Amino acid sequence: MTWSHVNHYPTLAYLLSPVERLRGVGPEVSKRLKNLGITTIRDLLFHVPTGVMVRTPVKALSYAQAGDVITAEVTVERHAPPPRHRKLPYRVLCSDDFADIELVFFHPNHNLLKNLLPEGAKRVISGKIGFFNKGLQMSHPDHVGLPNTFDQWSGAEPLYPLTQGITQKQLRKLVSLGLQNLKEMPEWLDSEKLTQHAWPSFIQSLDKIHHPTSEADLSPETPWHSRLAFDELLAQQLSLHQIRLKESSQRKNIHPVTGALKQKALALLPFNLTEDQQLVLKDIEADLSSDQRMVRLVQGDVGSGKTIVAFLALLHRIEAGYQGAFLAPTEILIRQHFKTLSLFSEKLGLNSAVLTGSDKKSDRARILESLKSGELHLIFGTHAIIQDDIVFKNLGLAIIDEQHRFGVCERLKLAEKGEDVDTLVMTATPIPRTLLLAHYGDLSCSYIKTKPKGRQQIDTRTISRIRLDEVIQAIQREILRGGKIYWVCPLVEISECLNLTSAEERYESLRPIFGTQVGLIHGRMKTAEKDAVMADFSKGIFKILVSTTVIEVGIDVQDATVMVIEHADRFGLSQLHQLRGRIGRGAAHAVCILLYDGPLNPVAEARLKIMRETNDGFKIAEEDLKLRGGGEILGLRQSGAQDFVFARLEIHGTLLNQAHDLASSYLKNQNTPLTLKADSFHHVLTIFDKIVVAKYLNAG
Ligand code: ADP
Ligand code: MG
Repeated sequence: MTWSHVNHYPTLAYLLSPVERLRGVGPEVSKRLKNLGITTIRDLLFHVPTGVMVRTPVKALSYAQAGDVITAEVTVERHAPPPRHRKLPYRVLCSDDFADIELVFFHPNHNLLKNLLPEGAKRVISGKIGFFNKGLQMSHPDHVGLPNTFDQWSGAEPLYPLTQGITQKQLRKLVSLGLQNLKEMPEWLDSEKLTQHAWPSFIQSLDKIHHPTSEADLSPETPWHSRLAFDELLAQQLSLHQIRLKESSQRKNIHPVTGALKQKALALLPFNLTEDQQLVLKDIEADLSSDQRMVRLVQGDVGSGKTIVAFLALLHRIEAGYQGAFLAPTEILIRQHFKTLSLFSEKLGLNSAVLTGSDKKSDRARILESLKSGELHLIFGTHAIIQDDIVFKNLGLAIIDEQHRFGVCERLKLAEKGEDVDTLVMTATPIPRTLLLAHYGDLSCSYIKTKPKGRQQIDTRTISRIRLDEVIQAIQREILRGGKIYWVCPLVEISECLNLTSAEERYESLRPIFGTQVGLIHGRMKTAEKDAVMADFSKGIFKILVSTTVIEVGIDVQDATVMVIEHADRFGLSQLHQLRGRIGRGAAHAVCILLYDGPLNPVAEARLKIMRETNDGFKIAEEDLKLRGGGEILGLRQSGAQDFVFARLEIHGTLLNQAHDLASSYLKNQNTPLTLKADSFHHVLTIFDKIVVAKYLNAG
């Protein structure tokens, strides 16, 4: 696919050109617009109003109510003498036949006001009504003009999200400038579809979005909003389908394996695989033996045992003569994987290494060399293994753990490091179907539903922080019983603006009570320090580990029994579930204590209630979606991917399915002569510039 077609279509080129192209947008304004995420004219037109203000034309001022935004015709009576103090307002007294109104200006240019509001003249004023000393007042009217301007200042105006230095008026003017030059483009949707939903054209829809006449017009269920949502979803589905075609292309080489390496590994394991683990492994092995490259997502709740499945998949490829890569989002996590799995690999006669951002230059060089030569069978790493200078001899399988921390780009980049790379992504945050389809398309999925036997149901309680003393006493008892405690705080150090307990602060307050039994860990510590603290907690030198969310993903300390989470109301549900998943891995009774600062708002209350009531990660993810929207669950913000502008998955689910079907049938039929249509499909893709299309599909 080429992008040269942009230049053949003036509207497309126009939409993608920088906002500076509009009159009135200089370097200063454009810098401010950037704070709103606006750099192109498209971005400006995608800046959707979140409110509407209706100006009421009033025949008589006496009808005006405080708080109303009105337009009225008045006679300018007189200018009050300029105030002696600069802090006092300048006042102009006006009236109609029924009432008086005082116009109020702070720091005005007196001459300008004299010209604008000459005494004795009739003027139209528009603005918000206030009351002062029992009289009507209007502070800094939005508009002052001649009587013939009355009609221009009645009706509805969109209200946009703003940023410092950009006013509603300015944005409205820019948007209407932006809309002015839009010419219709070839329609990319069937007329049947348009009629069925009563959808206007793309350009008409944009126009409607920016001209709401009432609150109802702002609803995402209006025809124009739905149309844009559909376009957006269609673009997303088109790009996802193309990515999928690229990722799961035909294999260049097929090397059958006997499974001997796997058998050897299974014999070394201290446990048997659960039924679900075996089923998932079977899915994976079928993929690895097929003639198409694998892209598979394994979903399994925290503690369900995904790691060993991934490792066995790696052995399959290694036996076939390939190298494997294991990617995880944090250094702690990847080092833990390395620690358990490298010992194991060694017994199987395999060479492995770990690479993170904090390795010594010489170590890094040595690892890079042995990856390139093929001496290393297996590399564990953070983002560091995606860097351009990392070269494999023949990478065959990339495992991506805790997928929600990575974006599609990272996955593709790793997959491009070999000729026949299979990809296995794993997530402990279950992804509801709608979200999966919207953000990953048709991804093959396997589920580990049941956990290994002997796992505990975690007993979850919500407790107000007022009762901290009781919590501390309970913890003292727990330590005597041989338990271990995670204590999670939202921040590292005391923050001045947020009144939250920090990890450091909590550590200091627990030290006098528990002495050297308390450890502290957070993301700002050096790797070696973090490792040492984790090891000491694991060994039981520390009984309490105070931490930030660095322990959120994957950490495995079998005999941890209590998880205290401070300011639990500040965390997302999925995150709370992840944190809670750190405990209850052994035989002992496990308790999760969610501390909150009361009183809770209803949403926070609902969230904590869900945590108390269920340990089911899938249910929790569904609720999280309802409460917070999808972007949070998928960590889209963390991974830098875009969220949707128009589409609301909780509302537009049906449209999503339709967009998916349309995209797949379109791509299937692309060989048939559909040229005009093909061009217009490129339009929708280009306009919505979804995820990686531009970056990856160009490459061929
Ligand atoms: P997660 O799915 O959260 O990544 P892990 O792979 O870290 O879970 O597994 C959690 C713990 O369960 C590990 O200590 C692992 O050794 C253990 N485990 C995995 N599979 C089994 C099994 N079939 N029987 C018993 N324990 C298992
Ligand atoms: Mg894991």
